[in-house]
Amino acid sequence: MLAVRGVVQGVGFRPFVYRLASEERLAGFIGNDTSGVTIEIEGLPERLEAFCRRLREEAPPLSRIDSVVACEAEPIGESGFRIVASDGRGRVATGIPADAATCGDCLRELLDPADRRYRYPFLNCTNCGPRFTITRRIPYDRPQTSMAKFKMCETCQAEYDDPTNRRFHAQPNACAECGPRVWLVRADGAEIPSRDPVTATIEWLMAGWTVAIKGIGGFHLSVDATNEAAVLRLRKRKRRYGKPLAVMVRDLDAARSLCELTAEEEEMLLTIPRPIVLARARNGNGIAPSVAPGIPWLGVFLPYAPLQHLLFADPRVKALVMTSANLSEEPIAIDNDEALARLGQIADAFLMHDREILQRCDDSVMAVVDGAPQLIRRARGFVPLAVELPEFLGDAPPLLAVGGHLKNVFALARGRFAYQSQHLGDLESVTGLDFFRESLEHLMHTFEIEPETVVHDLHPGYLSTSWAKEWAEERGLRLIAVQHHHAHIAGCMAEHGLEGPVIGLSLDGTGYGTDGKIWGGEVLICRLDGSERFAHLDYVPMPGGEKAIREPWRMALGHLHAAGFDVESAEVLELLGVKAQEAHVLRRMIERGVNTPQTSSLGRLFDAVAAVVLGRGVVDYEAQAAIELEGIAICEDDRIHDQRYVPELWTDGTGITLKTESLWRALLQDMQHGRAKKRIAAEFHAGISAGFIAAAANARNKSGIDKVVLSGGCIHNRRLARLLREGLEGEGFHVFQHRQVSPGDGGLSYGQAVVAAAILKSEHGAARRA
Ligand SMILES: [Zn+2]
Ligand SMILES: [Zn+2]
Repeated sequence: MLAVRGVVQGVGFRPFVYRLASEERLAGFIGNDTSGVTIEIEGLPERLEAFCRRLREEAPPLSRIDSVVACEAEPIGESGFRIVASDGRGRVATGIPADAATCGDCLRELLDPADRRYRYPFLNCTNCGPRFTITRRIPYDRPQTSMAKFKMCETCQAEYDDPTNRRFHAQPNACAECGPRVWLVRADGAEIPSRDPVTATIEWLMAGWTVAIKGIGGFHLSVDATNEAAVLRLRKRKRRYGKPLAVMVRDLDAARSLCELTAEEEEMLLTIPRPIVLARARNGNGIAPSVAPGIPWLGVFLPYAPLQHLLFADPRVKALVMTSANLSEEPIAIDNDEALARLGQIADAFLMHDREILQRCDDSVMAVVDGAPQLIRRARGFVPLAVELPEFLGDAPPLLAVGGHLKNVFALARGRFAYQSQHLGDLESVTGLDFFRESLEHLMHTFEIEPETVVHDLHPGYLSTSWAKEWAEERGLRLIAVQHHHAHIAGCMAEHGLEGPVIGLSLDGTGYGTDGKIWGGEVLICRLDGSERFAHLDYVPMPGGEKAIREPWRMALGHLHAAGFDVESAEVLELLGVKAQEAHVLRRMIERGVNTPQTSSLGRLFDAVAAVVLGRGVVDYEAQAAIELEGIAICEDDRIHDQRYVPELWTDGTGITLKTESLWRALLQDMQHGRAKKRIAAEFHAGISAGFIAAAANARNKSGIDKVVLSGGCIHNRRLARLLREGLEGEGFHVFQHRQVSPGDGGLSYGQAVVAAAILKSEHGAARRA
């Protein structure tokens, strides 16, 4: 008997095993159970051996085998191989598969006039189609999905029942005769009569209208990406002015015509989750300038649902803006009526369908950073796949880690795995907390995890913190608070199976420190269950608190004041385009400490420098100023290592700080002398990395540790990530970066879960010894 664990349900595993057993002339059966699949086989020993080898080598594309446990039993003289009914009892440990892009076989059928599914927008098979977003609970079988209400026609049922068919037990199997359908409505809900709603949608789009298109994890808002007026209108209605919009194109060739793609980026575009890939845009690529203003990158992705392939089958459609259908940072709309109610003022028409989306899930966003894939937003195509916990942690007790505040993602963990939720957006939006609760309930139910411990950020003001405290109190659960930057580093350590101690460079926007100040430029000595602060960027005032995040000119004044400049001087006012009165008020705030927390954040230093160098005084989205600064730096030679703007290491009785006074003096002088901005931006990146590398070297001298872990939102900055890695390796360090979870706050909950599991394990060990 073989017990196979991993992602082995809903991915064509049983028909695959059926075929394999038939080919190897083995008898027995296979069935799903709540932990995976169980296979009983008997036959010639060499055939059995071949079967076991091929089981791993030829497993279906969407499956993932975590373990195969074999135990021998007496042959019972089975004849033939069969598939037996699911066993729905017991604890659930198997993963639900993630949603998968339309496969090549289905795509060929979609576009083949002779095929019975020609132009049918919901075709799929065991190798592709929606999974997580249509599933209510596991075992993943049709009655547990939103396909339950569609009764298969005879032909579909025959495919579903035929173990040799590509659609054997493909739960969302459907055709035009028996499955979901699409229709187009106006914003008032009235159906727009047409013979073919897809063609009608294309006509609306090509005429410059905004159409809300129901997809896999929610609605997209779509406009012709080459039509500037249409893009501007969408931005205005969506109240999203600066944040880049993603563009979907037909195929890899079309993506190449918009962006200069590296081999790694091309590969990433074609992976099964079909993420949005942030790549370097080509000049004069025909995309409307308002799609991604002020930055040299474009988020491109390829169609992943049959309906999207049908839109691009029309030669008139070149590039479509496909952005999550919501107001800024609210959860994506999924339900037909909800979409009409929430988006009626934004979209002119709605392409709807009647396959219900049960789980909201945005598109995932990735980039190639320093030659390797990095997750910026982990959502469709990844959720709810498990991320492993390190083996040395043993079996983690059931726990919930609630994540951060913005870009929230929570994680549930038990045993050897953590399950991160989809990207939930900002909890403070009107519906954000509802989405959090909704998703938590679903994933707890799905994986049958009843948390015994709740893990939250140290920040007392986070909505996730107060929610966690309340929730834990109601249930009498243990609470563990984890410092933000420790969680970032611990997550990356766990991905690489590092027990520590390591030197952690936690370079970030903002996070609450153990001293109550706002951290974010941290050199930590980390173990999984604890960390010490070794060095940090020196504290500067953050006048106006949170407001300084939206208004980088405030951070610039904070930094300049701390560096000893007169922030009311004519030069500073001119450089920042700030009125004398504003600067005066801010200076008084800083000097009196009114609503002015102290921060060591590197993200805020980037903001301040961007405000000075680019005049970016106010931002429309988080980190915009820093992203633009990185954006102009890439116009400059990427081998620049000049170190004009290096923070200086200072030691006093209390620890080491990286001071930025001399950096600011050099920078302001260069601005006044009209030095090229792209040069300043490039050298600033080089200087910052040199400063942190020096701090890491200092930490190694004191501790003997030569492993450095990079994490925090600033590691999304490709230039900074590469300079740090190269520089550190040049100094003989071993450098580790995130691969499966985001270095930004989207990855925080995984790190929190790891820290809590480590704390619980060491307590347990201590209790046993005592
Ligand atoms: Zn398929
Ligand atoms: Zn059918």
